[in-house]
Amino acid sequence: ELPTIYVVTPTYARLVQKAELVRLSQTLLHVPKLHWVVVEDAAAPSALVASLLAQSGLRFTHLHAPTAPERRRRPGDPAWLRPRGAEQRNRALQWLRDTRAPAEPAVVYFADDDNTYSLRLFDEMRSTRRVAVWPVGLVGGLRFERPLVERGRVVGFHAAWKPERPFPLDMAGFAVALRLLLARPGARFDPRAERGYLESSLLRHLVSREQLEPKADNCTRVLVWHTRTEKPKMRQEEQLQREGLGSDPHVEV
Ligand code: UDP
Ligand code: MN
Repeated sequence: ELPTIYVVTPTYARLVQKAELVRLSQTLLHVPKLHWVVVEDAAAPSALVASLLAQSGLRFTHLHAPTAPERRRRPGDPAWLRPRGAEQRNRALQWLRDTRAPAEPAVVYFADDDNTYSLRLFDEMRSTRRVAVWPVGLVGGLRFERPLVERGRVVGFHAAWKPERPFPLDMAGFAVALRLLLARPGARFDPRAERGYLESSLLRHLVSREQLEPKADNCTRVLVWHTRTEKPKMRQEEQLQREGLGSDPHVEV
């Protein structure tokens, strides 16, 4: 029987949110035995995300967890200043621990709403026994980052940005067996982690570097891309709004 893949997606309200979630949901529709855990960065669940999930055709759980006010990004802060999505991913970990049985064969993957995922990636991660790893494209100032593999073992990392990190991996570059997460109840993301260290803050509870399981042909294939969506310009909208002629606010975008 195929292990379930729990895909955990933190998400927050902005102009492109629905477009991101529609695109991701329609990728996930192609993946068998998948359960989407969507965690809104908000004090309450939104109608937009609730109805999108209800109509998605996916098996899903809709959670929410607001980022603590002192950790929220302020307008004008550079994007890298604070880790994003940490409290939301921790909320999903809590839900998994509260509701799932350790005997259930399953894998947990943290999939941001804006990345690009090949369907082959889900085939690769499904056999994760502890923590599986693979390359991520368009990240860390490189064409790709990846674990370096010799004789089937991870012996190092191709990463240029803070290569001294305990696990120089992007969030999109690993998956964890549910059983391992439930066996280590203290394993969580540290929302106060220094820039770049969020992934390591979880993984250090779970495995040593030597235990990482390389996937995607010994980490030679890029099956996920750290794409980022441009913020849409709203100059004309703002102009029309000043004249009382803005796009109908009742139409959901
Ligand atoms: N995110 C969030 N709250 C925020 C900013 C981001 O929940 O205030 C989510 C976002 O929707 C995404 C993940 O956290 O799923 C990572 O954010 P982002 O893609 O902006 O990070 P980056 O691509 O810069 O690493
Ligand atoms: Mn992103």
